[in-house]
Amino acid sequence: MSKNQSSDIEFYDLHVHTFLSDGLLGPGEVVRRAATAGATGIVFSDHVDVVTLEPTLDKFLQVASDFRRHREVEVKFGCELTHVPPADIAGLARQAREIGAEFVTVHGETPVEPVEPGTNRAAVSSADVDLLAHPGEISAADAKLAAENEVALEISARRGHSLTNGYLVNLVRRLETSPRLVICTDAHAPGDFISSARAAEILRGAGCRSPESILLNNQKIFQEAG
Ligand SMILES: [Zn+2]
Ligand SMILES: [Zn+2]
Repeated sequence: MSKNQSSDIEFYDLHVHTFLSDGLLGPGEVVRRAATAGATGIVFSDHVDVVTLEPTLDKFLQVASDFRRHREVEVKFGCELTHVPPADIAGLARQAREIGAEFVTVHGETPVEPVEPGTNRAAVSSADVDLLAHPGEISAADAKLAAENEVALEISARRGHSLTNGYLVNLVRRLETSPRLVICTDAHAPGDFISSARAAEILRGAGCRSPESILLNNQKIFQEAG
């Protein structure tokens, strides 16, 4: 497919932050920035742990229908379990679901942060986890588990986390049963939001031969979430 065809695919960004965790923008401005950059849908995925899970999700979910009214992009409300001990990830993911999270992400073993080893394994083993973000040099065994348990793996548009994008694309290509790959911004600041054309460029740069199929994974997973 040509560049033009991939840029015709709508971009559903499954991973953005607000100042409810460490983002710079409030939820309203995140929507506006995402819309003007060209996104069709976003998932709020603020960092949470055992202390902040419930208050953060409650803030969103208590006003979910009011917030969605008249917005320029489709919105889903999730969270990113971040620096949670691996043994606690499954329980906290379950709790997030019970509170009403529409999407559950785990902050994976990125090369640029001291994420505890075992985090990737715990994330891809949980039926309540939708996305393992920036999985770094994820093992083939963990990528297979991700496929079995339908946990998507993230190609990251974010500087630093993106260092292992090429590794991930190459690893998944060699697997017999492939996990679903998606591309997300992990946006924290005004300049972080992107269009599907930019997403396709990042995918091609990571060695991905079919950016369109990954953009379609984003769309499908967004529509399934809830
Ligand atoms: Zn993260
Ligand atoms: Zn994040």
